Amino acid sequence: MNIANNLKKTKSQLPKHVTLVAVSKTKPVETILEAYDAGQRIFGENKIQEMVDKFETLPKDIKWHMIGHLQRNKVKYMAHFVDLIHGVDSFKTLKEINKQALKHDRVINCLLQAKIAKEDTKFGMSFNEIKDLLSSDAVKDLTHINITGLMGMSTFTADIEQIKNEFSNLNAFFVQLKIEHPSLQTLSMGMSGDYPIAIANGSTMVRVGSAIFGSR
Ligand SMILES: *Cc1c(COP(=O)(O)O)cnc(C)c1O
Repeated sequence: MNIANNLKKTKSQLPKHVTLVAVSKTKPVETILEAYDAGQRIFGENKIQEMVDKFETLPKDIKWHMIGHLQRNKVKYMAHFVDLIHGVDSFKTLKEINKQALKHDRVINCLLQAKIAKEDTKFGMSFNEIKDLLSSDAVKDLTHINITGLMGMSTFTADIEQIKNEFSNLNAFFVQLKIEHPSLQTLSMGMSGDYPIAIANGSTMVRVGSAIFGSR
């Protein structure tokens, strides 16, 4: 497994405006350091405790992204360092992030997760819920969070047409939403198996794990 090569190959597929999050969940710090030494600085994890352990061991100029489903009672453990939280899917969670960010005198960047997949197992809010949340007065009181965009995961399927439709629907919604909420800049869509489709359909941030680090 040549991580530097995989990273280079992945990056060569990305247009300039697309940010690469290297998803390092389950991988040891030595493996992450190989990617770090090859120049990668943004890493994604899906478990808070695992991310905290890696944050404490690894170089401090790494930007850590939380990409997994959030347990509200664990937000406090990452509030002092997390760079971007991708999977926010309720006002209650935003409120908790705001509360913990305030304690550290930080503003934490968040993406709202939209449910675009047909599976019950994928978390996220409906487009209407996202619209309502963004226009609510309650969210304006959250001074220590910054909602910078949306995140979505496609259905796990071999049907490329379906994946394409899910991504393009989310992109159309995102483009529309930005008119009223210009602070939304990031559309996090695409993983190892589908990031080229995601990029062709408006993604500005891809979360790639196995294509860089090998299977888990
Ligand atoms: C694991 C994970 C990824 C990366 O998946 P790969 O198929 O290994 O690229 C991306 N996004 C989320 C939310 C994940 O949990």
